[in-house]
Amino acid sequence: MAKTDTLHFILLGAPGAGKGTQAAYLNENWGLTHISTGDILRAEVRAGSALGNEAKSYMESGKLVPDQLIIDMMEEKLKTLDKGYILDGFPRTVAQAEALGEMLTRINHKLDAVVNIEVGDDELIRRLTGRRVCPKCNSVFHIYTMKPKVEGICDNCGGELIQRKDDQIDAITTRLVAFKDQTQPLIEYYQSSGKLVTVDGTIGVPAVAEKIRAALTGE
Ligand code: AMP
Repeated sequence: MAKTDTLHFILLGAPGAGKGTQAAYLNENWGLTHISTGDILRAEVRAGSALGNEAKSYMESGKLVPDQLIIDMMEEKLKTLDKGYILDGFPRTVAQAEALGEMLTRINHKLDAVVNIEVGDDELIRRLTGRRVCPKCNSVFHIYTMKPKVEGICDNCGGELIQRKDDQIDAITTRLVAFKDQTQPLIEYYQSSGKLVTVDGTIGVPAVAEKIRAALTGE
């Protein structure tokens, strides 16, 4: 198998397309560091930091956090990494993509690919409204497809599962609109650089991961 643990790539896709699930799977199987801007921001909100306090209301309503906050946060993060990584949820706007390009040049990291995971709107809504998370250990469950052993209780730590505020229908609608207006233009942006690979996100987690692996390694 071609070497995968030094790759740097972006997972692009609507909320609910499975970016986080794929990144966790690829992290476990390939040893790539998973960097999720959503997870970093949620930790900042929990910690009550200045960044978290600024980001909170945007996140809860499903809007994007202002570009400059995200760009500064990511520059700090990326320069600490010396092996391969998967960017999940960043960039999400053309301004972020341009800033990412500049920061990668500054820190001498090469972007290998941008993987676009495609899933239709009805399936996205089904996935997002059914998602439940454990606020204590961050485990993710689903009321249809990944039920916990005891309803409402985390299998891993016994915590009480909750629905994220932004997985409620009003916020989901806002998130899907933000995706279409602000993030979808990135598909064209990266297509023109020849780095874009599109995979069908509805074929099951291992099959999607295999498609990503094959696309990235050229096997
Ligand atoms: P996620 O878990 O990736 O869906 O992110 C949850 C929320 O965090 C999003 O709805 C945004 O409010 C915020 N967020 C995450 N990543 C970004 C980003 N790259 N740019 C702006 N906002 C972001």
